[in-house]
Amino acid sequence: MSRSNTRHRRSQWKATAPNLVSCERCQEPRLQHIACPNCGTYNRRQVIDV
Ligand SMILES: [Zn+2]
Repeated sequence: MSRSNTRHRRSQWKATAPNLVSCERCQEPRLQHIACPNCGTYNRRQVIDV
């Protein structure tokens, strides 16, 4: 594999867009499988005191 080939391949590497969903309680966009940073709710349960 040539250097140009390796560099071309690596230039195509991209981070995948985060999976955003809106919070059930405050409708703020949040990451899937992560407690809402705005109201601290996850799976309709308060998991973080705000
Ligand atoms: Zn929320």
